[in-house]
Amino acid sequence: MFSKILIANRGEIACRVIKTAKRLGIRTVAVYSDADVNARHVALADEAYPIGPAPARESYLVVEKILEAAKRSGAQAIHPGYGFLSENAGFAEACAKAGITFIGPPPDAIRAMGSKSAAKALMEKSGVPLVPGYHGADQDLKLLTSEAARIGYPVLIKASAGGGGKGMRVVEKPEDLEAAIASAKREAAASFGDDQVLIEKYLGRPRHIEIQVFADTQGNTVSLFERDCSIQRRHQKVVEEAPAPGMDPERRRSMGEAACAAARAIGYVGAGTVEFIAEGDAFYFMEMNTRLQVEHPVTEAITGQDLVEWQLCVAAGEPLPLKQDELAINGHAIEVRVYAEDPSRDFLPSIGMLAHLKPPAEGPHVRVDTGVRAGDTISIHYDPMIAKLIVWDRDRASAAQRLSEALAEYEVVGVTTNLGFLKTLADHPAFRAAELDTGFIGRHGQDLFPAAGPAPRLALAAAALRLLIDRQRAVTEAAALSADPHSPWNLAHAWRMNGDGYQDMILMDGETPVAVRAHPRRDGFGLDLPGGSAEVAGSEDADGALVLRLDGVKQRVPVVRVGDEFTVMLAGAAHRLTAIDPLRPARSEAAGVGRLTAPMPGKITQVLVAAGEAVKRGTPLLVVEAMKMEHTITAPMDGTIGRVRYAVGDLVEDGAELIAFAEV
Ligand code: ADP
Repeated sequence: MFSKILIANRGEIACRVIKTAKRLGIRTVAVYSDADVNARHVALADEAYPIGPAPARESYLVVEKILEAAKRSGAQAIHPGYGFLSENAGFAEACAKAGITFIGPPPDAIRAMGSKSAAKALMEKSGVPLVPGYHGADQDLKLLTSEAARIGYPVLIKASAGGGGKGMRVVEKPEDLEAAIASAKREAAASFGDDQVLIEKYLGRPRHIEIQVFADTQGNTVSLFERDCSIQRRHQKVVEEAPAPGMDPERRRSMGEAACAAARAIGYVGAGTVEFIAEGDAFYFMEMNTRLQVEHPVTEAITGQDLVEWQLCVAAGEPLPLKQDELAINGHAIEVRVYAEDPSRDFLPSIGMLAHLKPPAEGPHVRVDTGVRAGDTISIHYDPMIAKLIVWDRDRASAAQRLSEALAEYEVVGVTTNLGFLKTLADHPAFRAAELDTGFIGRHGQDLFPAAGPAPRLALAAAALRLLIDRQRAVTEAAALSADPHSPWNLAHAWRMNGDGYQDMILMDGETPVAVRAHPRRDGFGLDLPGGSAEVAGSEDADGALVLRLDGVKQRVPVVRVGDEFTVMLAGAAHRLTAIDPLRPARSEAAGVGRLTAPMPGKITQVLVAAGEAVKRGTPLLVVEAMKMEHTITAPMDGTIGRVRYAVGDLVEDGAELIAFAEV
């Protein structure tokens, strides 16, 4: 076994690999970009080496820099994690040349599966079932058009080099094909440096079921069973679970065998995942990922194995720790990806500092894999994932309940997250009933994206109480310092010379000001809230959350204050309320009507309109590429374009005005 390894990655996966290495007594070496100097993976590793500027292509993706760090540190092996260089055959070769073990499959196996098109051709030969489609090298538009017609609409365009749902487009009708191909090719070129696409029949209500395989250098190949990753958004996994609901042993065996056959066909070694798309009783090969997957923890949870340990054993030339008949499934596990993103704004990544971060407590039923700590920043440079939350229990129903509870406990302040969305999903009757297919989120959108309503009374009461407690504390502290600590001017409970004392405050709930008047009571306050008054009292607990009584009902409500902003967390949903000082001048109007601003920092990849052009509401105006995804900016109203401020290739800052409508 190795005594020192380098992890050529960052974030949660780097931390995850370090954890197992530590347990096995292996020293760990981290690499970090300028943006990650203080990152968690750097803090956890025994040694860490700088590899350059924040953009991944100048640091985490530069083979020479990684190898240089490996040589300097004396690491014997490199774990690539997922993403970055994990499926880069050239990198695996360069490691071998440098005399360093690449913890992953042989370069030829990576290459064989690197192109979805080539992999399909190979699998076809090995008798693994495929979705009807075209996966040829000829990319002539006429040919692609006739192939799409032959396959039959709707079709799915995929980047051959694709991953993470990037470069994928569903096309419903022939007239949309050309534009979709162009856009898929653009995204593919930007993300993978390769614009080849393939076309497949688009299945209506399929499930995504994948098989975890493992092979060693002694010719053993096993399946560690399946994961169901059908709950997706834009073809990206949102929820992953194991085992797949409704899977019978016979089908599990035949899918496991097909996956092992696929691995054997390419001389596979190490951890790999063979992805299938399943509809009814049929299943078709989609692709093989030649690395450890994001969702590997659910497999670990049901098999009791540590897959990173398995990877290290195999890379060190040892046989697989267990044989097929020694592997068994125990219970049920579910993973969700907690992201800094805004579900109400089409899941736009949310950038910012994690002012407060408190994951649910880990234990036999809950695991949190994360790469960030409170105070860290979610930046534009990397994936905005905050953590993976994994729950396990004896059966699916119990695991789903654990998931719901753990999500409700998760506290994040500073960025918008998908926690509320995930909690709603975890509680949805169709999810509880395991009605899984890739259309789940689209079909239940109504329930999963509730219209933003006003903050509930409890949130208002909690924010108000927090503000009142803070005011009280500030006055007490000031009084302690003043000459006459017993002066009535130093009492915070709104003592007035005449009559009933009270304190007024204004809490901004989004754009709506909410006036709250607080009347001091012996114990707590009477609050005048919209919809009637309420009695509230409470204090902080050891974790800084409020334990409050609202109209006699006692509950624990985490409230985090950053400046004048109060974030109240209720059952997974974060309500943001900002206290405003009525004497302060009003904020100047931000992006007004008739202006269009960049939703996040990025690069302009397409300008679709020119000054003077008349557009209708919804007309696409510009395409911005940010975080490797294309965001189309559409007209918010009918009108005439006044000015287009940027050209293709320009970089834009968050909030930059992109286009102005002409004055009318
Ligand atoms: P990527 O490598 O970009 O993740 P995949 O080929 O793994 O792309 O596909 C991602 C997801 O897209 C699948 O899990 C599935 O939901 C959906 N998908 C892929 N192929 C098809 C298809 N032929 N019909 C319907 N959905 C598909």
